[in-house]
Amino acid sequence: IDFSTASFKSFENISGQDAYATAAQFQEYLDWLKNNGHLNYRIESQSPVGPEMDLLLPGDTAPTRSVCLVSNDYLGFSQHPAIKAAVTEGIRKYGTGSGASPAIGGHFSYHQQLEKKIAAFYGKTDGILYTTGYTANSATLQCLLHQEDLAIIDMAVHASVYEGCLTTNTKRFLHNDLHQLEHILEKAKDTYRTRFVIVDGVYSQDGDLAPLDKIAELTHRYGAYLVVDDAHGIGVVGTTGRGVIELFNVFDQVDIITGTFSKALGNIGGYVIAKPELVNYLKYQSKQHLFSTTATPAIMGIIRAIELVDEEPQWRERLWQNINYLKEGLISLGLDIGTTASAVIPVKVGEIRRTLEAGRLLLRSGVYTNPIMYPAVSKKDARIRLNVMATHTQEHLDKVLQAFADADRVIGLRP
Ligand code: PMP
Repeated sequence: IDFSTASFKSFENISGQDAYATAAQFQEYLDWLKNNGHLNYRIESQSPVGPEMDLLLPGDTAPTRSVCLVSNDYLGFSQHPAIKAAVTEGIRKYGTGSGASPAIGGHFSYHQQLEKKIAAFYGKTDGILYTTGYTANSATLQCLLHQEDLAIIDMAVHASVYEGCLTTNTKRFLHNDLHQLEHILEKAKDTYRTRFVIVDGVYSQDGDLAPLDKIAELTHRYGAYLVVDDAHGIGVVGTTGRGVIELFNVFDQVDIITGTFSKALGNIGGYVIAKPELVNYLKYQSKQHLFSTTATPAIMGIIRAIELVDEEPQWRERLWQNINYLKEGLISLGLDIGTTASAVIPVKVGEIRRTLEAGRLLLRSGVYTNPIMYPAVSKKDARIRLNVMATHTQEHLDKVLQAFADADRVIGLRP
């Protein structure tokens, strides 16, 4: 195995090896990454989530203060005093755990309130909670789609959608390619019982958006249902932070909305919003909901966070000022940031090796980013991914731009 071009994926089921032998070889790969300063994954942060964090870098004994561009806490809500107070109040009033799964004693007022609150946020009446956004996608799709059905997915959807489709027929269309989507819908219309078109609102690796108005029109023209995961859109995109669904004004055209509380809302958990009968079906039929203990009372912070998306739009405004400032700076350095329209900015490098090296150089300049490579993106499309936060200052962003300029001079950051 050539470690310089290998990826985590290369170590899945190495043929002829048992699991322990594969794990041992994977350990060699991890050691190689670490010894070459390339291990940006699982770096220990010793301070709270924020625009700057104290990182214990590989081989170091003391932490380094770094500008953080790896957090989905886009609005800074994980540190918001009013949200922390709501979490504390939840724990004070209800304790630290819920004690059971929802159908058999684990459904409390704070779950009921949050289900209603997140549904009302989209102008709907009914929602269901899951432990994570990942489970919201995988569980819902697994529960609703069977052998006679078809999932039609954009190639770039999140891993949790792929997992949800493992037990059904699946056809993929090239990212945002509406001609291919229409072709699949046309061919599938008399062949499969239920057809779900499943897209992300904001794509997590490119930060670009699904054209939901056009996708909704096509989907319904061919009698299919539309599922949208707007994990990175909520709180960020749209005038009032209702996400890509608001941007394209398709509240009534999306059949199932899924999302997460773990990004702009600063907590953890996933949700699904749909017509009442479908939500009820999931509540009693979706195994990952039914047989898993409900969220802790700390989710009372999410109820407050949803209110603050409306009450304090200044965080979203600041976030967008930061996004635009960083984008303009990267473009003026001549770097390729694709077609992002969100708080996720990819700096496209191409090769895995140079991307890893860029991650290392940036980290050593005090700028913490995520090098993203196969299997998250295709093999020649590696990039440095940046997540912007409302709480970054111009000074932070200038430091980031300087570090990119320096790394570009040393190794070249263009595909
Ligand atoms: N969907 C998308 C598009 C995501 O980027 C993520 C986050 N990694 C998820 C779903 C999963 O959300 P969570 O982290 O809450 O499991």
